[in-house]
Amino acid sequence: MKRLEREKAKLLREIQGCSGMLQGSLVALYRKCGKKGCHCERGQKHGPAYCLSFKEGGVTQMVYIPVSRLKEVKRAMEAFSRYWELGVRLSRLNLEAMGLRRRRDVRKKGSTG
Ligand SMILES: [Zn+2]
Repeated sequence: MKRLEREKAKLLREIQGCSGMLQGSLVALYRKCGKKGCHCERGQKHGPAYCLSFKEGGVTQMVYIPVSRLKEVKRAMEAFSRYWELGVRLSRLNLEAMGLRRRRDVRKKGSTG
């Protein structure tokens, strides 16, 4: 198998390993409950409550995440970042495979420019 095909197959396997991904950003919310005499009236708000925020059709969605699921959600978000990086690498590989970019143009990590 050619080098590019081999690298592509490897990337696709790694992408498959990210299938538990979640896209979005984690937002910590602090709120006032509205009860009279509550400490939140004096600025000590309730929280944090966590939400996963993401856009759907241009509208921001906020999905409540219980603290007990926080670690799980963070791991899934890391899987999305990994998936994204792998997608970028796949794109570079495709550029090369399509003959639009030559290998010698690829800069090594850590180099400037
Ligand atoms: Zn309160």
